[in-house]
Amino acid sequence: MNLELPYLPDGREILYVSIEDSFMAEAKRASEELSKDSGHPIGAVLVMDNEIVARGANGSDHHLLHGCERRKQNIPTGEGYELCPGCSPVNHAEQSLLATIEQEGKDVSGADVYLYGHWWCCESCWGRMIEVGIRDVYLVEGADKLFRK
Ligand SMILES: [Zn+2]
Ligand SMILES: [Zn+2]
Repeated sequence: MNLELPYLPDGREILYVSIEDSFMAEAKRASEELSKDSGHPIGAVLVMDNEIVARGANGSDHHLLHGCERRKQNIPTGEGYELCPGCSPVNHAEQSLLATIEQEGKDVSGADVYLYGHWWCCESCWGRMIEVGIRDVYLVEGADKLFRK
């Protein structure tokens, strides 16, 4: 699949798996159980040595309490994160995932991220994932059709 993504670091690619994949199914479950963004739930799991070592999801209480400044202004995907504390990349599923393992001080270099609910990863999230040594990012097949709004 050679899809044009809004952002992808040099030398990186996104890998795609079916929703039947057990790790992707767990990422979907994380989006359903853990996300604080009911309008756009995103979930992620971190897989190391064929085992899930962390689960994360997007969102914060900001949207519940104040709504979303970006949504009110119809800001396109990937833009204007600074306008809304609820949309800050620290609330993205990838970074909430990494925050949990960081607290435990776990070395996760070589681990893979499975992300459900989105069709690309932003620059900030890629930066953090590369920093901790994430190997590959997996999205669900057809993610752009499912999640591109
Ligand atoms: Zn927002
Ligand atoms: Zn992000």
